[in-house]
Amino acid sequence: MPNKASKADHIALRSCVVCRKQQPQSELLAFKLKDNKVVFDFKRQLSGRGYYVCDDNKCINRMDKWHKRWRKKRK
Ligand SMILES: [Zn+2]
Repeated sequence: MPNKASKADHIALRSCVVCRKQQPQSELLAFKLKDNKVVFDFKRQLSGRGYYVCDDNKCINRMDKWHKRWRKKRK
């Protein structure tokens, strides 16, 4: 039986908070929420819970809505 295990199986998938599409972590923009503000984690060095969004204007533009909803939930 051929060994089907490849490196592709080990790519960590994350879903975009806006469209929920799963993509490799490296293709998504990472951000953190600090003091109720969205902070992009370009170097992926910030601590705290990470969120991901597609590197796509459609998703980035809709993030504002997502963030407002997120803030409401926290109240
Ligand atoms: Zn998306």
